[in-house]
Amino acid sequence: APALPSNFLRAIVESDLAAGTHVREGMPSVITRFPPEPNGYLHVGHAKSICLNFGLARDYQGRCNLRFDDTNPAKEEQEYVDTIIDSVKWLGFNYDYPNAAGGIDHHLHYASDYFDQLYAMAEYLIEQGYAYVDSQSAEDMAANRGNFSTPGKNSPFRNRPAAESLQLFRDMKAGKYADGEHILRAKISEDAMSAPNMNMRDPAIYRIRHAHHVRTGDAWCIYPMYDYTHPISDALENITHSICTLEFQDHRPFYDWLLATLSKGGFFQLPVPRQYEFSRLNLTYVVTSKRKLRQLVEENIVDGWDDPRMPTIVGLRRRGYTPEAIHLFCERIGVTKADGWIDMSTLEGCVREDLDPKAPRATAVLRPLKLIIDNYPEGQTEECSSPVHPHHPEMGVRTFPISRELWIEEEDFMEVPSKGYFRYYPPIDDKPGARVRLRHGYVTECTGYDKDENGKVVAVHVNYFPDSKSGTPGSDNYKVKGNIHWVSTASALQAEVRLYDRLFTDAQPDAGGKDFIALLNPNAKEVVTAYLEPGMSAALPDQRYQFERHGYFVADRVDSQPGKPVFNRIVTLKDNWSA
Ligand code: ATP
Ligand code: MG
Ligand code: MG
Repeated sequence: APALPSNFLRAIVESDLAAGTHVREGMPSVITRFPPEPNGYLHVGHAKSICLNFGLARDYQGRCNLRFDDTNPAKEEQEYVDTIIDSVKWLGFNYDYPNAAGGIDHHLHYASDYFDQLYAMAEYLIEQGYAYVDSQSAEDMAANRGNFSTPGKNSPFRNRPAAESLQLFRDMKAGKYADGEHILRAKISEDAMSAPNMNMRDPAIYRIRHAHHVRTGDAWCIYPMYDYTHPISDALENITHSICTLEFQDHRPFYDWLLATLSKGGFFQLPVPRQYEFSRLNLTYVVTSKRKLRQLVEENIVDGWDDPRMPTIVGLRRRGYTPEAIHLFCERIGVTKADGWIDMSTLEGCVREDLDPKAPRATAVLRPLKLIIDNYPEGQTEECSSPVHPHHPEMGVRTFPISRELWIEEEDFMEVPSKGYFRYYPPIDDKPGARVRLRHGYVTECTGYDKDENGKVVAVHVNYFPDSKSGTPGSDNYKVKGNIHWVSTASALQAEVRLYDRLFTDAQPDAGGKDFIALLNPNAKEVVTAYLEPGMSAALPDQRYQFERHGYFVADRVDSQPGKPVFNRIVTLKDNWSA
C-alpha cells in the first residue's frame, strides 16, 4: 500500500491504535464522526472535515458516523438534512458498516435521538450538585458573566437546593414556563464564575424553546445546548477521536469535565472520546460562512445554493468539480493547527490535474466569427478526425466535417497584427496574409475580410492548400506557427455556455469587517451562445470535456436537455488570476 501522507492526527491515531487506547468490541479502534448542523448547505470547508474524518476511518479500518447536530429547532430543516447526506455520498463516503452479526449498521445519527438520555443525564447532574436552574433574566446573566478581564458573579440562584432545581427542571420540561424564564447551567466548581476560560463559567446546558422540531415534533419544549449535546453524543456513539476546528479548543475543558463527571454515573463505555482540533479551511475569493452564503441565495445574487459560482458542495458539483479533485485538494492542503489561507488557485489546480488525463477533448467556438474558404467548393464537406484524448488512443477518435464556411474565434483574427501574433491577419502592402492551420484540417492563407456598416469585422476570407490536410504526407511541407480551432457552420451545434469565474474580486472578501457584497465579481457569470462540434449533441448531464484552448467544461446537470446540452466552464486551462 502507498505510504499515507502524514499529519499530526494520523500520528495520534496510529499511536492510539498501537497502544490500544480505545478498545471497542475487543479491537483497538478509531471511530470518528462528521457532525453538521442541518441549517444550511455544506461548503468546501466542510469537505475538508468530511475528507479528514471519513478518510481516517477508511485508512485505519475504523468507522465514521454522520451525525446531525439538530438541537436548534428554529433553524433546522429536512431540506438541509437531505442535501448534506447527498453531498457526503457524492464525495464518495458512506456510513454503512458491516456488523458482527453479518448485517449492516447504518451510522447515520441524530443528536435528537439522544434527547431522552441527554435529559436523564441532566437530572443526574442536578442531583449530584453539578447543575442548577438559574432564574436570572438574560440581561443579568450576561452582566454577571463578566469578561476576559473581569471575573463573573455567582447567580443568586446558584445555591438553590438540588431538589428545587430538579422540580423546576421538570416543570420546564412539562411546559410550565415561557422561553427564557429559566435555564439549566452547569456548576463545574465553587469558583467557576471566575474561571479564566469563559466557557467554564456555569455554561448553559438546557434552555426553554417552545418550537417545533423537524424530528421530535412538539415532544420537547426544552432543548440541550451544543456544548452539552456534542460531547455526550460523541460518548454515546463510542467515538474515539472527536475532531473539530480550532475555535473549539476553549470548549475542550468543558468537554472533558462533562464526560468525566457523567462517567461517574456509568453512562458511557470507557475510555471516553477525546477532542482534537485542527485549523479550519480559509479559501481565498469565496466566503465560507453559511450565514453569508444564505444571504447570497436569499438576495438572489446567485441562482440558488447550487449556483456554479458557489463554494457549496452542490455548487462545486454543478460547476463540474469531481469528488476526486476535492479529495486531491484536501490531501494537498493537509491538516495542521496553523491558521492560514489557501489560495483558490490550489483548488483550481486540483480539478485541472484530475481532468487533464481523463477529459475527452472537444471543439467549441465561444465568440464566433465567420471564416470563408473561398477556394473550397461550395456544398462540399469532408471528414476530419482527431483523437478523443491526445495521450489515450484507447479513448478513440472523433470526427467532424469541414466545409466552405466555418466558425472561428473572434480573437483569432486581427486587422493589424500585434507583434508576435501568428493567427489570421490580412495581406498588408506587399506582405501576404497570415498562414494558419485549421487544427486537424488544412493550412490556409488569409486573403481579406469583410466589415459591416459599423466597422465590425463580420467575415474573414482565406484560401486553403488542398495538399496540406493534417495526417496526410503533404502536410509536413507546411510550417506554420498559427494553429486554431474551428467548427463548420452547417453542422455546428449551437449551445448555451456559461463562462464562470471567481465569485469575488477580493481575495478575502469577508475579512476584517469588509462589505463582502460590494466585492462581488460582476463578471463571474457570462452566458454566450457558442458553436460546438456536432458530436457534442450527445453530451450527457455531468459529462466533462476539455474544450481545446479554452478549459474544462461540464454539461450542466440541471439545464441540459437530451440532444441540447448546456455547458458550464469549470476552469480555464491556465491560471489567469495570479499576478
Ligand atoms: P458555519 O460557521 O458556516 O455555520 P459550522 O462550522 O457552524 O459552519 P457545522 O454544520 O457545525 O457548520 O459544521 C460541521 C463540521 O464541519 C464541524 O465539525 C466544523 O468544525 C466543520 N467545519 C465547518 N467549517 C469548516 C472549515 N472552514 N474548515 C474545516 N472544517 C469546517
Ligand atoms: Mg457549528
Ligand atoms: Mg454555524
